[in-house]
Amino acid sequence: MNDARKSAPPTRPSFPARLDFPKSTAAFTRSAEHVTKKIALKVSPQGLGLDSSAFRKSMVAKLAQQGVADTWVLNAMSSIERHRFVDTALVNQSYEDTSLPIGLGQTISKPGVVSRMLELLRQGTQGRLGRVLEIGTGCGYQAALLSMLASEVYSMERLRGLHDKARENLRSLHLNNVHLIFGDGMLGYAKGAPYAGIIAAAGGEAVPQAWIDQLAVGGRLIAPVALTLGSASSPARQSLLLLEKTPTGVRQTVMEGVHFVPLKSGVA
Ligand code: SAH
Repeated sequence: MNDARKSAPPTRPSFPARLDFPKSTAAFTRSAEHVTKKIALKVSPQGLGLDSSAFRKSMVAKLAQQGVADTWVLNAMSSIERHRFVDTALVNQSYEDTSLPIGLGQTISKPGVVSRMLELLRQGTQGRLGRVLEIGTGCGYQAALLSMLASEVYSMERLRGLHDKARENLRSLHLNNVHLIFGDGMLGYAKGAPYAGIIAAAGGEAVPQAWIDQLAVGGRLIAPVALTLGSASSPARQSLLLLEKTPTGVRQTVMEGVHFVPLKSGVA
């Protein structure tokens, strides 16, 4: 998804012999030394070997270190195998904090950005979220994470090739609460509304009215939005926008700068 402009480094990931974890990041970093040893033992130049859970534990420990504190999000990030969603040639980079190409000019977001957005989506929620709408299925990775955080996930993709790829990637996971929809996400998906949460993996110039209409009162929407006008020489700068729907209107909070692929209308 995000960061079409800033492509992944061509180098292979380096797997440090020693990782530094702060003592305070609780459960997810407790076994850091153990994880480090496992990585050192299992990594091979050919790929991830049999035990990819060690890579995920290390990735999650780093996310916790960066400030992600929601245990539901961290738990989902440790459970879903990101390497299953990227092309074979990129498997070695799948647990790096980097965006990776997924075909048709699109990218899967950095784990750091994905976990940050999921944490913002869940903020203030005890337990599982209700129905959630995702705009931009891409390879299906974030939809799989959402399946662990929400009761039902409606995920829309406008590119047929990626919609099919996500279906293929998700098939063996048997996630029966994930509904993949081929269509223009700018229109939302009224059949599943109202949504407790809406999360977009592509950024437009404004939040489409359909999303706001389909958000439940008390619901939260997280989307990249271009708040400045772009030009040929300098592309528009995007920021993450948090929109909360209250009984009296919407409250919008502009968060940090991000780089997502553009939100486009229509299907292809
Ligand atoms: N969450 C995805 C990221 C995909 S990248 C993942 O985990 O892989 C963002 C995706 O948004 C792209 O696949 C792009 O085709 C899609 N997209 C852009 N505009 C869209 C629209 N109007 N409706 C649905 N999908 C859209």
